[in-house]
Amino acid sequence: MTLAETRNYKNSSNPFLSLKYESALESLGDDYYDEVAAAEFPQHILRWRNDLLLPRLGLDPQVVKDEDFITAFGKFDRRKPLLAMRYHGYQFGEYNSLLGDGRGFLYGQVRGLDGELYDFGTKGSGRTPYSRGGDGLLTLKGGVREVLAAETLHYLGVRTSRCLSMIETGLSLWRGDEPSPTRSSVMVRMSSSHIRFGTFERLHYLQRPDLTKKLLDHVIQEYYRDLNAEEDKYALFYAQLVKRVAELAAQWMAAGFCHAVLNTDNMSITGESFDYGPYAFIPTYDPYFIAAYFDYYGRYCYSHQPSICQLNLEMLQEPFKAIIDKDDLKFGLGKFDEYYQAEYRSLMLKKLGFVELPHPQAEELLNLTIEFLKDSKVGYHQFFYEMARTFSSKWRDEPGFVMNTSDIVPVPGASGLFDDWCILYHTILNDFDSDRLDVISQTLAIHNPKTALLRPVIESIWEPIVQEDNWQPFYDLIKAIQSRK
Ligand code: AMP
Ligand code: MG
Repeated sequence: MTLAETRNYKNSSNPFLSLKYESALESLGDDYYDEVAAAEFPQHILRWRNDLLLPRLGLDPQVVKDEDFITAFGKFDRRKPLLAMRYHGYQFGEYNSLLGDGRGFLYGQVRGLDGELYDFGTKGSGRTPYSRGGDGLLTLKGGVREVLAAETLHYLGVRTSRCLSMIETGLSLWRGDEPSPTRSSVMVRMSSSHIRFGTFERLHYLQRPDLTKKLLDHVIQEYYRDLNAEEDKYALFYAQLVKRVAELAAQWMAAGFCHAVLNTDNMSITGESFDYGPYAFIPTYDPYFIAAYFDYYGRYCYSHQPSICQLNLEMLQEPFKAIIDKDDLKFGLGKFDEYYQAEYRSLMLKKLGFVELPHPQAEELLNLTIEFLKDSKVGYHQFFYEMARTFSSKWRDEPGFVMNTSDIVPVPGASGLFDDWCILYHTILNDFDSDRLDVISQTLAIHNPKTALLRPVIESIWEPIVQEDNWQPFYDLIKAIQSRK
């Protein structure tokens, strides 16, 4: 069989094999990847298929069989080439030149019906030249956790990759951070790109500005299409990347999400959120909340996320200096705070029920809300959900009616702030006509779902899987997330 035949596979009855794969990355030449083979697994049990993504690929979920997922994304049948991407990165501040896809590869690239180019990237598909001491595999719990994170973030309005499939593979793995032996999985992630900040950092390390430019042209061509015709497209690209990353950081913060490993190899050049390992959603508003057990000094704690993103963008200037004027890079990055604040304010106001609010009032309400949440140790997600659940037009009549629920119990000493918050919210509501209250109620409901992906929730669905191979609570949880319940 020739390579061209393996690529198109038009006659296959498997819709995934019949997709028209594009060789966007491959066509750049082999400086950016290594061709690898997938691991062979003793078992293939489809645990998750994301039917909601299929229409975007022009596929009808009714037509796609479980077996199609398994053949394509568990057995990687006849698909070639599989590309382990080369990249480096700053990990906890230290430069690491030994990285690259160590347990994944680019399975293929497909254009969605929306015209966007999507990567199918694997996680847990076996060893590659970049596996170092690792086994190239993913635990089942790791797969479950990434599926859940991606769906939750997507429905909270975060620009994120999603998981297309997750297949249990029948191996026993040993991990320091899970009771072992533990079960294994292979996942396929659908994302806007797997080109990372670290992909460019590697090219700078190798002193190959020619390869940097070629890759950057490709990135702009595919992922910053609006800029293609612009004369100073490189400077505009960096400015746009800064905006996307600043907004992403704001989206994480408003969602109460701590990514946990913001190394530059986990930062996408499209500004999309991806790669969910030891992440956590914050239980309460604790700026110093740390999600990864190995983040000893809290470098990637919840409130550091914006400044870390900014720092990563600053380090990314090094490879770009060969192409973009220093002053343009400086000017681009200088806008980070402005973009971050605007997005954070807008998202938090929506969580508080307001699509817009005059400036001084918005500032006061936001500050008081954060201060109260920090002080009271009331659950971050619970507070907003309770607002949405209990909101009523009576809140406009008297401050005492606002959040009059026994489900919100501030720790002793924080009650003064709570009273202030209720008075302020009541006052603000009085600036609205009563016929606007419905809109506020709907805004609260959309942005504050009941289901929060806190660690105990993940454990509660993981336990039945471990104990009795009962996956129903996992499916129920995803359904709740996807229906914003
Ligand atoms: P991560 O922390 O998941 O972003 O991974 C950092 C680097 O370690 C990447 O280059 C991964 O491909 C690699 N890696 C992580 N886990 C494994 C594993 N089990 N086997 C091989 N490589 C791994
Ligand atoms: Mg990674």
